[in-house]
Amino acid sequence: MQTARLATPRGTRDVLPPASERIRSLTGRFAETAQRAGFRQVITPIFEHAEVFRRVGESTDIVSKEMYEFRDKDQRLMALRPELTAPLARAFANHRPRTPWRVWYEGPQFRYEKPQAGRYRQFNQVGAELIGSDDPQADAEMLALAWRFCEALGLRQVILLINSLGSPADRAAFSSALGSYFARRLGDLSEQGRATLAVNPLRLLDSKRPEDRLAAAAAPDIAEFLSKEAAGHFQTVLDALGRLGIPFAIEPRLVRGLDYYRHTTFELRSLALDGAQDAVGGGGRYDGLVADLGGPPTPGVGFAMGVDRLLLACDAEDAFDVQEQDLDIFVVDVIGGVEATLLADEIRQAGISAERAFDKRSMKAQMKAADRSGARFALLIGAEELASGTVTLRDMRRDDGEAPRGAQVRIPRGAVCEEILRRLAVEARTPA
Ligand code: ATP
Ligand code: MG
Repeated sequence: MQTARLATPRGTRDVLPPASERIRSLTGRFAETAQRAGFRQVITPIFEHAEVFRRVGESTDIVSKEMYEFRDKDQRLMALRPELTAPLARAFANHRPRTPWRVWYEGPQFRYEKPQAGRYRQFNQVGAELIGSDDPQADAEMLALAWRFCEALGLRQVILLINSLGSPADRAAFSSALGSYFARRLGDLSEQGRATLAVNPLRLLDSKRPEDRLAAAAAPDIAEFLSKEAAGHFQTVLDALGRLGIPFAIEPRLVRGLDYYRHTTFELRSLALDGAQDAVGGGGRYDGLVADLGGPPTPGVGFAMGVDRLLLACDAEDAFDVQEQDLDIFVVDVIGGVEATLLADEIRQAGISAERAFDKRSMKAQMKAADRSGARFALLIGAEELASGTVTLRDMRRDDGEAPRGAQVRIPRGAVCEEILRRLAVEARTPA
């Protein structure tokens, strides 16, 4: 069973190029979008004291069932982070930065789930938080950020579902009404559903089990429990979405998995993905979280998006076609030794991308490798070039453009960077 033991752990994957390029590119696109909106990156540890998550999410599946917990060598209870909102609020409570604190993040999260397409035990998220404002326009701003990002990826089949959980008092009143409602239907609930009811009736609305869904069909509606202020906050957010031209659907059953959410909650779903894994992102307002983690009472709003799911949605929609990164030069080396190393180093320092051959293979084999690399030019260095202080630059253009494929020129070794840069600049000005 040696091979089985050397496979990646269940629910994890090796991501090789070119798939890794898409992840990098999507994350880069998110970073650009967030930076343009004045958000800056925060990097927190991959593992935290389990308490950071336990304190705020005890009644959620994420914390009670899906968390990777372990004792370190000093017997401290640690957890691989299952999400990043709690660590960010923890960081805020520790450092007390000036508000509003606008931050974004990216990186792997860990949840012990039943792996399937789009559901992994290690998965990547990008997300953003705005901590320190209870202005409903802050909710609108975060919604716009998430929505415009999906648009920028080229996704057209994403829908925005939105709901309000109201103030903590509204939420409590709703929760207790739900509790009585489900208590009358105990027999209809799944076994897990009954357990959920005992801890947090609200979470039953989040259940994906068919029995629970059916039992919830006539459940009370949160809208009836919203205070005037909470209803006003919600309406302001919805009005802003209308003005922004961002379509949405109110989903009264939408409760987020974690307990710290108040007021606005939302989810982005892809209609192009399979129902069980169609959430590409979610978020909301969490006015109680910072205080729960030992900071001063501070409101916040944010969201997280699943990178892997976004990419699946892009695949399904044929969107976000990542261009393979262009390679400028492939150094073909028919003399061996250090010359090609020096040449590649020099042109890379000049900002030109370059790959090279090794092992002094035949000219034919190296030209084939140069072709496969997709490089714009091959740069040949052979005995003749070495003797005359030159290199040969060969055009590798595939199509039958003005310069026939294989056209080549000798250039002085000392002018090589200048000449390549000149040619690349000319092409950049006159796109094929
Ligand atoms: P789901 O209902 O699909 O389990 P969730 O509500 O648990 O999602 P969140 O905690 O809101 O998910 O995380 C934000 C996003 O992270 C999700 O919308 C989804 O795109 C992604 N995500 C969550 N869990 C996983 C996972 N196990 N594998 C891949 N992506 C995930
Ligand atoms: Mg989940």
